[in-house]
Amino acid sequence: MAVEQKNISMVRTEQLVKRFGDNVVLNGVDFQVERGQVVAVIGPSGSGKTTMLRCLNHLEKIDGGRIYIDGQHLGYREQNGRLIEDSEANIARMRSQIGFVFQRFNLFAHKTALENVIEAPIQVLRRPKGEVVELAHNLLAKVGLAEKANSYPHKLSGGQQQRVAIARALAMNPKLMLFDEATSALDPELVGEVLGVMRQLAEEGMTMVVVTHEMGFARDVADHVVFMADAQIVEQGPPEQIFDDCQNERTRKFIGRVT
Ligand code: ADP
Repeated sequence: MAVEQKNISMVRTEQLVKRFGDNVVLNGVDFQVERGQVVAVIGPSGSGKTTMLRCLNHLEKIDGGRIYIDGQHLGYREQNGRLIEDSEANIARMRSQIGFVFQRFNLFAHKTALENVIEAPIQVLRRPKGEVVELAHNLLAKVGLAEKANSYPHKLSGGQQQRVAIARALAMNPKLMLFDEATSALDPELVGEVLGVMRQLAEEGMTMVVVTHEMGFARDVADHVVFMADAQIVEQGPPEQIFDDCQNERTRKFIGRVT
């Protein structure tokens, strides 16, 4: 069983389709992430990157195709050979194993950093408060915010808020972390501290999907880079290939513009 599990991709989508009205935003996307891999998703604005990431956490319902997280069908299950929507409880359970870091932090404004971090493990996982508080202190220390446990979000810089958001996601002990342009709402001088935490997580072996405009991060930290344009994956490969030796003209133009 353990050996078998190792061969299952952490994320696999098959012919993923998502529409908003008549706008086809994901047009048959096959996307894969292996255990322990860091995948950077890059591409022009409007190409579907964020939507794909949101689909992987069931923040968006898909219109076609399939998503498997760690081998399990997300959002649907088979019954008598037909696909039907999965129960709320099953979907919630799968979602609780996936950390999502938003562009705009999304902290609870009326809770301290510590209270933000302990909320889900207590409310969702029903873990004992003492244990979760200790975990939260450790996680805040890990993201360099040991001193800020009792601060409210409005007293923290954007970079600090985003690091609290990362600690909050980690408190659920996720098997997969999704980052949606986690640094693009930050002042330039605060970007590095958040990328530093993300880099550390990557080095520790966390499985990560990172939608980003930070090409330096994608080149240095990602194991695999996916270039999206017009609702599809146009090209993918190791960073050296995408940044130095891409095969597709659209990729070449994009990389030429942003690096
Ligand atoms: P990217 O992350 O690559 O910039 P997005 O996934 O944000 O691209 O957007 C892809 C397309 O989907 C865009 O045309 C965008 O306008 C559209 N879109 C995204 N979210 C919504 C929504 N909630 N309702 C309608 N259209 C949306």
